Amino acid sequence: MHYEAVIGLEVHAQLLTRTKAFCACSTAYGAPPNTQVCPVCLGLPGALPVMNGEAVRLAVRTALALSCTLRTVSRFARKNYFYPDLPKGYQISQYDEPLSERGHLDVEVGGATKRVGITRVHMEEDAGKNVHHEGVSVVDLNRSGVPLVEIVGEPDLRSAAEAAEYLRSLRDVLMFAGVNDGNLEEGSFRCDANVSLRPAGEAKLGTRVELKNINSFRFVERALAHEIARQQAVLDAGGRVVQETRGWDENEGVTKSLRSKEEAQDYRYFPEPDLPPLVVDDAFVAQVQSTLPELPRAKRERFVAELGVSAYAAQVLTGHPRVAALFEEAATLHGQPARLAAFVQSEVLRDVVTHGLDARIPVSARQVAGLLRLVDAGAISGKQAKEVYAKIVGSERAPEDVVAELGLVQVSDEGVIEAVCRQVIADNPRQAEQLRAGKASLMGFFVGQVMKQTKGSANPRLVNDVLQRLLG
Ligand code: ADP
Ligand code: MG
Ligand code: ZN
Repeated sequence: MHYEAVIGLEVHAQLLTRTKAFCACSTAYGAPPNTQVCPVCLGLPGALPVMNGEAVRLAVRTALALSCTLRTVSRFARKNYFYPDLPKGYQISQYDEPLSERGHLDVEVGGATKRVGITRVHMEEDAGKNVHHEGVSVVDLNRSGVPLVEIVGEPDLRSAAEAAEYLRSLRDVLMFAGVNDGNLEEGSFRCDANVSLRPAGEAKLGTRVELKNINSFRFVERALAHEIARQQAVLDAGGRVVQETRGWDENEGVTKSLRSKEEAQDYRYFPEPDLPPLVVDDAFVAQVQSTLPELPRAKRERFVAELGVSAYAAQVLTGHPRVAALFEEAATLHGQPARLAAFVQSEVLRDVVTHGLDARIPVSARQVAGLLRLVDAGAISGKQAKEVYAKIVGSERAPEDVVAELGLVQVSDEGVIEAVCRQVIADNPRQAEQLRAGKASLMGFFVGQVMKQTKGSANPRLVNDVLQRLLG
């Protein structure tokens, strides 16, 4: 029988606040274990949570970026379970009255746009981290109480590749919205993937398996592909898929059972008595909406429609918010976005190193625009521009200064160029003969020789004109 895969993802994304969700402890990554803790996030008796306003603002922004409907009054709930990384014995989350519901995310898959439903976006706190080391298990509570949004997706995805693309798009949206740093390695963007199979054409959902905490897009894709094949084999053999939670073993390339439905937790949700209902009124939502930065899809469409950049270039240039910002600033200064796009792609991107929302871009928009302006003015050739770029990168030097220092000037003196052309023709009589006899492809050879003789400084248009005249 032919089966169809059905996938729905749950993503936990850390909100970019300086302090935790319910206390003033720092959220900075990488501090020594248990140095960013207090009675509230250690879950000591009697300590009371106080809602972090910035976390609420960022959660509302997330909901708006995903076109969700906001609930004016939402509630926090206690999700009870016992685990060493959860000192209170419960996690503060939202349950039946979440912050927002019914949104969507548009994802590019196989050349078409697919709209994936978002079931809900709600707020919750992170747990700590168990660390297993040389036979001992210890816990680091620095992460305990860090504010998260959980983004629950509808079961609208149909393949492992679609799921990976959805995750990439979601991460981009959160990064451009400025709510999350997109750092999978540091755990600030994590995903649980639910997957089931059903006979093609069937409307009812099949029994699902949940794949827990997979921390790279590549692993999500591999884990889902493996899990789909495993379920297919079970069904083909006449068996039934068991509802359970499985983990991905990257070394063995297989999913492994962690716990069955029977062992699943009953979280005994109840309203959080220590926090008042969360109220986000229309004025607050409107204010957050007005500060929502332009999202990647809108940016790409604008780059193409208004700046005349190719769809591919627009995709590359919106790969990171800082790269997009550099391009836009330089394009405004220079005035020819398409040329700038080409230069940023071919030269600048090579030197850009990103880490989450941070990016090391060793050249400024002003430098790039200034450099291309020198080419426009005919002061230097395109080839010389690369040489100058190599000198300004990592420095704050003006391209004009480097041009002067290197003694670079584009040779546009026709007399000088003609002399070189004549010399090159004289040195290559056989090729000149063939070209005159009709082998037009040799023109490139002559242009190349002249550029070589002039160390790339000759104005290429003039070189072409002169060679045409002498050899045509
Ligand atoms: P829970 O909170 O217990 O994990 P939910 O009903 O909230 O359960 O579903 C969580 C996720 O699982 C959602 O992203 C949803 O799209 C997905 N999902 C639910 N049922 C299925 C199914 N049969 N196959 C694939 N995904 C599913
Ligand atoms: Mg779940
Ligand atoms: Zn604290």
